[in-house]
Amino acid sequence: MDEHSALFRIFGSRMNSVHIPPQPRPAYAEAMPATHRVREKPCAQCGQPSPVMYWVIREEEEGWVFLCPPCRRKAEEGNPEYRYGGTWKAEKGR
Ligand SMILES: [Zn+2]
Repeated sequence: MDEHSALFRIFGSRMNSVHIPPQPRPAYAEAMPATHRVREKPCAQCGQPSPVMYWVIREEEEGWVFLCPPCRRKAEEGNPEYRYGGTWKAEKGR
């Protein structure tokens, strides 16, 4: 009596009847949807996109927004709540 081959036959027949679902998308594809690839961001003040945007707070309540260079300068003037978080460039990495 060969127990091993008997077990293998049962397992093998089960394997053949199991439907294998299509492979899920890799995790990185979920983290980087195609819609995320935006080259230019609209300004929170004037709504115009700019290749260079500034990540700032103009009002503490509003929180972080993107501003184009002219709007950033205006937002900064005499504004005690103004905070600068960084510069965003559309062409970064090219
Ligand atoms: Zn603007």
